[in-house]
Amino acid sequence: MNRVYNFSAGPSMLPLPVLEKAAAELVTYGSSGMSVMEMSHRSPDYEAIIKDAEAMLRRLMNIPENYKVLFLQGGASTQFAAVPLNLIGRTGKADYVVSGQFSGKAFKEAQKMGYDVALAATTKEANFSRVPTLTRDMFRPDAAYVHICYNNTIYGTKYADVPDTGDIPLVADMSSCILSEPVDVSRFGVIYAGAQKNMAPAGLTVVIVRDDLLDSADPQMPTMLEWKTMAENGSMYNTPPCYPIYVAKLVYEWLLSIGGLDEMKRRNEEKAALLYSYLDSQNYYIAPVRPDSRSMMNVTFVTGDAELDKKFASAAAAAGLKNLKGHRSVGGMRASIYNAMPREGVERLVEFMKEFAAANPKA
Ligand SMILES: *Cc1c(COP(=O)(O)O)cnc(C)c1O
Repeated sequence: MNRVYNFSAGPSMLPLPVLEKAAAELVTYGSSGMSVMEMSHRSPDYEAIIKDAEAMLRRLMNIPENYKVLFLQGGASTQFAAVPLNLIGRTGKADYVVSGQFSGKAFKEAQKMGYDVALAATTKEANFSRVPTLTRDMFRPDAAYVHICYNNTIYGTKYADVPDTGDIPLVADMSSCILSEPVDVSRFGVIYAGAQKNMAPAGLTVVIVRDDLLDSADPQMPTMLEWKTMAENGSMYNTPPCYPIYVAKLVYEWLLSIGGLDEMKRRNEEKAALLYSYLDSQNYYIAPVRPDSRSMMNVTFVTGDAELDKKFASAAAAAGLKNLKGHRSVGGMRASIYNAMPREGVERLVEFMKEFAAANPKA
């Protein structure tokens, strides 16, 4: 069967060469005589896989020596609890920026634990159609950290620059934008990401943490959530998500082979520009996000008529453009155009949007 263009927000497309390589190695990996799925995580073959994965991710993101890279389970949502548990001990308080649903959940999770957490800024009153403008004076100087969601998957917004939090460690959920472009890791205390958007199949969460932040955990916290334990054990305190880490390694290899994150950014900018410039050139579809907050990964738009939106998503699916329906909480349409989405997929989408508009005039 032919592959479709899958605009799903996550789990989402993986690069075809990665799937093909995984398929070729599925039954027997190298000279091991077994599948990666069947291997002991303590075997030399697997040790090489996880070491290579870390080395490649470090190269791709230019991760400084004083940062640990952790390959964990539990999804980004588990980190909503792990972040305060690991960091709050520094000063006992933390500040949150709520720019959409996931950052809202992260904020609630920290509140639920009874910590002194403050809402530094939110764009809820603007229906999350932009990210807040953040300045240093919005944060408590003695906050243990400031938490943001760098790219808001559901609303299609992103910070244009890394917010300045001064000496307060910045913690960023990068689930839906990691590896889409170069970032200066040294500007962050912690970066975390569920892998199923732009990196690997579901089941893997990557945490990148500055090593001086590993000493403030509550001693009573669950061991499985403690970054320090995971760092000291090379992400192998228990069985890691072996197969997703292996696929992540193939994705990192693919990214390096095309020229790394500079080239990935160039391609992503080109794809996003195709879609946004079409949206800006007409008035059948409306792009609700303020232009200076636009995401390069998740592009949202509506027709302004819920019935037409529904028809759009089903007609697009019938034409091989799948999963364009917006998140259930906001409706409309959302095209997630992660690294693995080829330019042709976005070109096809723009063609389809033109055809649909011509064939379905508004009343
Ligand atoms: C998808 C997503 C999450 C939730 O990830 P899980 O791995 O399902 O827990 C959190 N934050 C952002 C930004 C996301 O896009």
